[in-house]
Amino acid sequence: MPGVEETTRERILRLLLESRRPLSAQEIAALLGLDPVRTEKEIYEHIRHIAKTLRRRYGGRYVLYMVPPRCRDCGYVFTDLKEPRRPSRCPRCKSQRIAPPLFYIEER
Ligand SMILES: [Zn+2]
Repeated sequence: MPGVEETTRERILRLLLESRRPLSAQEIAALLGLDPVRTEKEIYEHIRHIAKTLRRRYGGRYVLYMVPPRCRDCGYVFTDLKEPRRPSRCPRCKSQRIAPPLFYIEER
């Protein structure tokens, strides 16, 4: 189903394939000329689908990785996140200064 959504997703996929460093959702949005704050959740949604697209299209040759979010105050790392998102606060020190997850695609 081609459309605006599909196009944005393809652009994100290409960005991640071409980037030489991990990118956050807000960085991805900014690189695509989108509002980084307003579209952050939308970008996470696209990234979820991109993991599936990669499996389907490349059969495991390219894999999407996530550097987990981290608390900027106490260093707590959200290692057990199932889905790409930015947690709102740290379970250990309650800080809201959370470094967002970063994403990259690598060839296996
Ligand atoms: Zn913390």
